Amino acid sequence: MPACEPAEPPAAPTPGGAGSGSAGSGSAAGSGSAVPGASPKGGLEDRIARFATIWGRAIFPVTATSLTRPEFERHLVPLTRTLAEALHARAFDASAAQRVGAELVAVHCTDPEALAGTLGVIESYLVLYCGGADGAVGSTEEYRARCARLQHGVAAGYARALRERTLREQESIARSALTARTDAQQALHASEARFRAVFEGAAVGIGIADLDGNILEVNDALLEMFGGLEGHVRGRKVTEWGHPDDTPHVWRMHGELVRGERESFRVEKPYYRHDGTVLWTNLTVSLLRDAAGEPQYQLALMEDTTERRLLNLRLRYEATHDALTGLPNRTLFFERLEKALNGTGGDRFGLCYLDLDGFKAVNDSLGHSAGDRLLVEVADRLQSCATGPGEVVARLGGDEFVALTTGRDTEQKVTDLAVRILSALSTPIRLEGRELTVRGSIGIVEGSVKERTPAEVLRSADITMYRAKAAGGNRFEFADAEADARAITRHGLTNALPAALERGEFFIEYQPLVHMHDGTVHGAEALVRWSHPQYGVLGPDRFIPLAERTGLIVPLGRWVLEESVRQARNWRSKHGGASLRVNVNLSPTQLHHPGLVADTVAVLEKSGLAPGALCLEVTESALIGADDELLEPLRRLAALGVDIALDDFGTGYSNLANLRRLPVSVLKLDRSFTKGMQQSPANPVDVKIVEGIVALAHSLELAVTVEGVETGAQAAQLRALGCDTAQGWYYARPGAPDRIHTLSLSDAVPSSP
Ligand code: C2E
Ligand code: CA
Ligand code: CA
Repeated sequence: MPACEPAEPPAAPTPGGAGSGSAGSGSAAGSGSAVPGASPKGGLEDRIARFATIWGRAIFPVTATSLTRPEFERHLVPLTRTLAEALHARAFDASAAQRVGAELVAVHCTDPEALAGTLGVIESYLVLYCGGADGAVGSTEEYRARCARLQHGVAAGYARALRERTLREQESIARSALTARTDAQQALHASEARFRAVFEGAAVGIGIADLDGNILEVNDALLEMFGGLEGHVRGRKVTEWGHPDDTPHVWRMHGELVRGERESFRVEKPYYRHDGTVLWTNLTVSLLRDAAGEPQYQLALMEDTTERRLLNLRLRYEATHDALTGLPNRTLFFERLEKALNGTGGDRFGLCYLDLDGFKAVNDSLGHSAGDRLLVEVADRLQSCATGPGEVVARLGGDEFVALTTGRDTEQKVTDLAVRILSALSTPIRLEGRELTVRGSIGIVEGSVKERTPAEVLRSADITMYRAKAAGGNRFEFADAEADARAITRHGLTNALPAALERGEFFIEYQPLVHMHDGTVHGAEALVRWSHPQYGVLGPDRFIPLAERTGLIVPLGRWVLEESVRQARNWRSKHGGASLRVNVNLSPTQLHHPGLVADTVAVLEKSGLAPGALCLEVTESALIGADDELLEPLRRLAALGVDIALDDFGTGYSNLANLRRLPVSVLKLDRSFTKGMQQSPANPVDVKIVEGIVALAHSLELAVTVEGVETGAQAAQLRALGCDTAQGWYYARPGAPDRIHTLSLSDAVPSSP
């Protein structure tokens, strides 16, 4: 069944008498339900029962069971529930699917069609019936990815259970073969008649040959296995039955047997039938000795395993290939990669990890079946890119593909491969009457074998692919260990942020702001730090961007505000710092947050701090191009008396004339200007610029704060240029809150240059 276009579901009788089935409506899914994406109606239990009905319909005809169809369908209900639960589980666990596969074998669904039917039904209907509406996990894409993994799980569980059953069967056949042999031997010695009875009645194929290999007797079962032509079997020597796929030791063991050096051996052996087809057998050959113990005959007992072998091959194929594109799947690719990394294909390897850019948009706008066709086309193109010896292409899932190359000169080879892939993608694909241009991002890992595990290589490639995507997509990037490590730490830090806030791992340092003319402390800027249990104290540059991206910046920023305002209130009431003020940084996300004004007012009211003692710092870049709507909350805060400072001023190329529109009262000159004052004499261009900015700011009645003042020379220069307040290591480094009010920085006032 083609995966992308689910066929009309078979008519469903009322499942197990469960009331609401749509018997007679001709559609198991109820009202017009085969539309992908539209969940059939009814509660989950109801939908589980209906799925089981469809499933039963698909595989009952090929199941050798004594159950009636309704009984059989009822049997599938708990299995469906297991699949549905796995689809929804918070932490995905494919082992449930393996149990379902094993359970199918247990109820005798061992025909190859039963597995194919099961996988087809899961592919087409599981997400439709059991995903969606009650979705705890999220996107349809996630459900589909899970669905694919569940199919692999079912196939794997099925294959394993079947293999185990086969082994058990072989055991018992071996045992009966042994009994047959003893019986045959006794019969030979006792009476010809009894021997015949054993010989002819046996269900396994039996043949007897002399020690030279001349075939003397074969029973009907054996003849039948070989295609029923007596002449083809009798009268030929045992040694003429060689096959290219014979294991090398089979003929050695046979030699030992006829020489009397071994009593028996057991192998899996193929034979040609007269029509050229291959018969696979489990073969047991035993030596028959005469009454005096001398070797006399060889006795072959064989069981036809052809069907089972084909089934196993097919199962293996299904468990290792992607149903949609026919490419090797993740499982098989892992095996190939593992072999390559063990050095089977050469000393080096190169891997391209491809993710399509914007595939989700195609799926969302054109539908899944169009998305599927696109993936098939992409798969074909990829395959045509990797045709060299040792080159493999696979689909890892979703829109992620990989291509592997091995051997020598892999750096060049893998680069060529990536170039070929990007160029193969660049020809538009025709879909639904339109031309779609598909692009992709490729992460490349190239290196020596025997250094990393497949999982490590894939992870590195995945990270690198994201780097290519972040750089704009439609390109490839090479993995580099440092970037990997950074990405891994970043990833870990991002995940740990929410818990860190709950556990109180953040703390604030305060850096004094100093009046330039007399060195008295004007206030302090609150700078947040993270006391990470593993990495120690991390600066805000390491985690604020991550918090921004995940939205955690809102609760974190609120905490910083609360804490700093409480602190400022503390300075004012307890420590004689009656006029001390506190500066708090606001990130762009906070600026857009609808609760900004209300939160800030609430914090101020709760602590009892006057609004004029708070200054919110907003970066210049966050306000570039800001419209009135964005500025409105800041205007309201400014109207309440809260100061707004324009942080990092001079880095954002904002229009100076624009300053008039902004509700700011302070400019914080970026550290780069301060750097220009370091040289002696100071950089004349910087001096001119600062002079101009200060003049403009003052004409707009804005105060100017300078940042990053590290030396007395800088301080003197900036004071001479008219800056009002300053911040920097020259005065004090950021530190604990209790230091601020005791700081006397008057001696840090430099004399004019
Ligand atoms: P910023 O607002 O420009 O803060 C000033 C930074 O300059 C601080 O770095 C401070 O430690 C550093 N600094 C101070 N004096 C000197 C000096 O004399 N020389 C040099 N080289 N550096 C000096 P920090 O603490 O690493 O903060 C970095 C940035 O993180 C801040 O830049 C601010 O944008 C952001 N940030 C800090 N705390 C918060 C917060 O609570 N919320 C938000 N949204 N951002 C914050
Ligand atoms: Ca700041
Ligand atoms: Ca700044």
